[in-house]
Amino acid sequence: MKITRITAYKVELPRDRPYRLSGWRMVPVFDTTLVKIETDAGIIGLGEVCPLGASYLPAYAAGARTGMAELAPRLIGADPTQLDAINALMDATLKGHPYAKSAFDIACWDILGQVAGLPLYALLGGRFGEDVELYQSVPHDTPEAMAQTLAEAQAEGFRRFQPKVGGEPDIDIKRIHGMARLLRPGDVAAVDANGSWLVHEAARVANAIADLDIYVEQPCASYEDCLSIRRRTRQPLVLDEVIDSLPMLLRAHDDGAMDVVNLKIAKLGGLTRTRQMRDLCVSLGIAVTLEDTGGGDVIGSAIAHLGLSTPQRFRFGTAASYYKVRLRTAEGAPVIANGCVRPSDAPGLGLKPLIQAWGEPILDVRA
Ligand code: MG
Repeated sequence: MKITRITAYKVELPRDRPYRLSGWRMVPVFDTTLVKIETDAGIIGLGEVCPLGASYLPAYAAGARTGMAELAPRLIGADPTQLDAINALMDATLKGHPYAKSAFDIACWDILGQVAGLPLYALLGGRFGEDVELYQSVPHDTPEAMAQTLAEAQAEGFRRFQPKVGGEPDIDIKRIHGMARLLRPGDVAAVDANGSWLVHEAARVANAIADLDIYVEQPCASYEDCLSIRRRTRQPLVLDEVIDSLPMLLRAHDDGAMDVVNLKIAKLGGLTRTRQMRDLCVSLGIAVTLEDTGGGDVIGSAIAHLGLSTPQRFRFGTAASYYKVRLRTAEGAPVIANGCVRPSDAPGLGLKPLIQAWGEPILDVRA
């Protein structure tokens, strides 16, 4: 089978509410890039990449599109069902920039699933259970507003929460205590600083919440500063932004640096690399958050398949945000029910594009 045409589309996805990261960084809409890969067998694969603004990771939406324009001509004529070979070809064409490769990798998995006649979860490791539990992010805000958002999410059926902290430490301590009072038995909360605290600030917050049953995620920007906090505090620690490759995961595991790892598909370069790291985490006994840096129906479906193919005990969480976007871009995408999603059982991602929402292509490369 050969790739005959690649088209990409820039789509703005309105959100249920603006996404407010730690330190008040705002992301009002998801600037997403959708991809269609066509083949000489008539099978079409869908992909998507959506960096969370331009200041979150070393990735941004226009950069993804520029990288994709560099990669697409080289992929024409390649066999999309040979995933490692596709990734080797992309790495030989463009060094680094994993996020620019992610949507193409996802689209090729979608094609492989359709060729095999199997849903992606079957190819990614097999089905574990019926559905995938989601967490609700609590945007950075006043202590009172964050407690209210968490209570609303509880009423919607969520039991997992990721409050965004990383602000002024005294107020963060109030934020965390205010939300901890609301947690019921079985609720799990990981307060995520997105690397925004300095080491002394992270140490103060961690000491002030030492008696609470709360996880801390990515307290400081650098790996070394997170490790310093890890070695002198008691909370279970999640690492996210600094775990951007297999060597970093191995280093952090050797250092005993974390209890949970947040794996984002675009951060790692697609499903191929994310699955590799997910499998290694399962072998090492590390739980995983499985998600991405943003997106809509295509990314939401990819994550749901990845989640369902991960043993339940190792699933720490999956973000609800992909399923709350207010523009549908594909039919067959998972929808939230009682704080959970389940992917389609149809082959591949199980999606049909709602092409009227995609608009005109911004990239069109063909044989
Ligand atoms: Mg995080």
